[in-house]
Amino acid sequence: MHKIAIDQLIRSKRKTISLTITKDAELVVRVPLRMPLKDINRIIEEKTDWIISKREQVLKRKREFDALKFIEGGKFFFQGKTYTLVPKNEISQIYFSNEKLYYPSCHDEKLPDILKKWCKAEAKKILPERLKQLSQMLNIPITGCSITSARTRWGSCSAKNRISLTWRLIMANPDAIDYVIIHELCHVIHKNHSKEFWKKVKQIMPNYLIHKKWLKDHGYILDLFE
Ligand SMILES: [Zn+2]
Repeated sequence: MHKIAIDQLIRSKRKTISLTITKDAELVVRVPLRMPLKDINRIIEEKTDWIISKREQVLKRKREFDALKFIEGGKFFFQGKTYTLVPKNEISQIYFSNEKLYYPSCHDEKLPDILKKWCKAEAKKILPERLKQLSQMLNIPITGCSITSARTRWGSCSAKNRISLTWRLIMANPDAIDYVIIHELCHVIHKNHSKEFWKKVKQIMPNYLIHKKWLKDHGYILDLFE
């Protein structure tokens, strides 16, 4: 039997026990003030399988994230696909082919900036175009579109129905991009996250939960570049 160690035990005025795996794969346990340790241990034991699988998931993501190093031979994420970074002489622009992304040869320290610039430019071409398409297809008119550098959210919709998307979204997979756009378009109709709002999202994209989860699991994308 696996013995699970608690990394952090937090007692507070609460009625139930809650288990969380942090992004560093640590187990945080929140319990009522006077809950005896043996009860806590019993619950942990019952939840062993969940804790182990959740931890594995977190560690897998962490490995994925750690692999994304912007150096020659490193990995890069674009529209949900992973590319290996390969320098090339005598080219002036980034391009990709198969699973490789070729960039004009440069010092490793310059590479993040080059990739960021390129990504931003691609985002400015691709995201507004997709937004326009979906807005027309779904017959939900908007007043405009901004591409921002937000790091805390993928998109937003203003009171005047102007939609903003972060350029960082271009690294996400195309279905997840569509989900964010559809989500914001639904805010044109419902300015909240009410039941009606989610009903509308589901009506347009029945399997949206998968993409919502993908974005949550890959939230680190927002932190990849300064
Ligand atoms: Zn929303």
